[in-house]
Amino acid sequence: MREWELLEHIRQSSAGQPVAFPQVVIPPGDDCAVVRVGRESLLLKVDQVIEGRHVPAVASWRGGPFAAGLSRGAFLDLVARKAVARVLSDIAAMAGTPVAGLASAAVPPAFPGDAARELAEALHRWGARWHCPIVGGDVATFAATHPGPLSLSVSVLGTPHPARGAVLRSGARPGDAVYVTGMLGVSLAPDGLGRHVTFEPRLAEARWLADMLGANLHAMLDVSDGLGIDAARLAATSGVRLELDERHIPLAPGATIANALRDGEDYELLFAASGAVPSVCPATGCPVTRLGNVRDGPPGVVLRAADGSTRDVSREGWEHA
Ligand SMILES: [Mg+2]
Repeated sequence: MREWELLEHIRQSSAGQPVAFPQVVIPPGDDCAVVRVGRESLLLKVDQVIEGRHVPAVASWRGGPFAAGLSRGAFLDLVARKAVARVLSDIAAMAGTPVAGLASAAVPPAFPGDAARELAEALHRWGARWHCPIVGGDVATFAATHPGPLSLSVSVLGTPHPARGAVLRSGARPGDAVYVTGMLGVSLAPDGLGRHVTFEPRLAEARWLADMLGANLHAMLDVSDGLGIDAARLAATSGVRLELDERHIPLAPGATIANALRDGEDYELLFAASGAVPSVCPATGCPVTRLGNVRDGPPGVVLRAADGSTRDVSREGWEHA
């Protein structure tokens, strides 16, 4: 079973949660879950980073080598950074603010004790950087008979935007424009590192958008699997058709349209809104590009080329094994 099939199965089988459990406001299927605690709504999210899958594999945890000739400490710093940033990108996708996080790690049998301390310190450092203190966690070592790669999981609790509330994937309406922050494509460098480990979760940009646009910020997600598939998720959840203009897709240096559609791990915000949207976030300098429109019609994503021809790109993206 592919990852998206499993997630779709979980989404469908969890759709009744808000009826059975009134504390569940938004069940699985959006960037974060939304749960009610007393009179407050809170965002919940977990994500993981696994050596060899989300970051380059290490030949020997005792001696390296580590990706791009980094020291062990510098490599672990990037692993911890990605683990915290990935989950915060989903908090940003709801226009939320992190409150605190938990981290757990499963480490290979040969993982040195001082490396575990370096990893823990890096997790705390990156959590603090994004105002998301890591307030608890756990570490376990794989049995020598059943060894596994370094596996790191981070869970975060967040609050929705105080005025706008949580921004879901489902609110895009015909007549909206579609925007994306930053630039897309080639987040994975030849040495295995690159933007997919050094990206900045768009917390400040999301907050700015929700502050400025309020109820006109209709739908949002973070581009983790590629513009094609992620735009299709927003379209499907909202029941609308997205028409994107190839000439307006903001490409990272060296990226092609195919890279932007398929590579994934950009962790940029894709959103639908009405009203005026500035082209730069003043607080961070992050560009915001209008790349298309929301239309009535069968849910999906079409890409319009410079010559006016269109094609369906709703299945173009990273297919998780
Ligand atoms: Mg997401």
